[in-house]
Amino acid sequence: MNKGIVVKTTGSRHTVNSGGTLISCRLKGSFRIRGIRNTNPVAVGDEVYFEKTDDGLGMITRIQDRKNYIIRRATNLSRETQILASNLDQVALMITLEAPETPLEFVDRFLVSVEAYHIPAVVLINKTDLYGSQKQAWCKEVKAMYEFARYRVIEMSLTWGTNIASVREILSGKFTAIAGNSGVGKTSLINLICPGLQLKTAAVSSYHLTGKHTTTYPEMFPLPGGGFIIDTPGIRGFGVTDIEKNEIGLYFPDIFRLSNDCHFYNCTHIHEPGCAVMEACRQGILHLSRYRSYAKILTGSEGRYRID
Ligand code: GDP
Ligand code: ZN
Repeated sequence: MNKGIVVKTTGSRHTVNSGGTLISCRLKGSFRIRGIRNTNPVAVGDEVYFEKTDDGLGMITRIQDRKNYIIRRATNLSRETQILASNLDQVALMITLEAPETPLEFVDRFLVSVEAYHIPAVVLINKTDLYGSQKQAWCKEVKAMYEFARYRVIEMSLTWGTNIASVREILSGKFTAIAGNSGVGKTSLINLICPGLQLKTAAVSSYHLTGKHTTTYPEMFPLPGGGFIIDTPGIRGFGVTDIEKNEIGLYFPDIFRLSNDCHFYNCTHIHEPGCAVMEACRQGILHLSRYRSYAKILTGSEGRYRID
């Protein structure tokens, strides 16, 4: 029996990296009848066992239990889900405060989803070369706000090469999914850290440019010093819709921590007296931006809370 990691899957064929060798594998037929609602029973990142077959291919006979996974709906209307990647060590969320400006509400919603999947997240603030003095000050504030939530935050510039060493160190030896809105620099980062992949990433960007809804298959790329990175266009599709309202507070680590001191154990931090979260907001300990996102996700609108 051979063991390996699925690095690419295109429907019926799965490329398995087994000790550095790539083997094209099929899935043993019996896997299909287990009534899983996923469109793909095998996902990138899966640890699998396979047998070599006479035609030089492999036959996957067993998939190890997944440590974690990220999913998206196959289509907006469908209840079927597609597993984008499994067994991730972390998600790197790349954002920019200018050209384009990533809305912080997007960041917060994204981080809630990643928390719900129990996957560590790091925040990369790119394009600092473009920031004037006001944006630089705002950048420090944004960094502090996410560090208060205990995320690792790196201010970086691919153009200037700022803090690229820290980014490499964070990615080294780990399996990381990179996410972020279009235009923040994900492709540029992958090109920089995975030399030799130029063609692949160029293909991804031309797909973006044409705006066609071509099916793209998730694929993980090896980093020269060990570890893998996966650029998952569909990762934006996962939202907070499946999370129960009373769980949202659990997925804001800063709010969750502060809520220890709320008067009511089931405080929603919206209207209750003795709310430590709202008090922390008033005192400037918790950034209003984080609180606003929390309240908006919880209540579905702005203006139902009041922080003076
Ligand atoms: P993606 O959509 O997230 O993959 O973003 P791309 O990697 O395609 O980058 C979008 C644009 O931003 C390209 O024109 C890049 O050259 C540019 N870009 C990437 N990083 C930086 C940076 O650090 N500073 C500046 N000024 N531009 C950058
Ligand atoms: Zn509270």
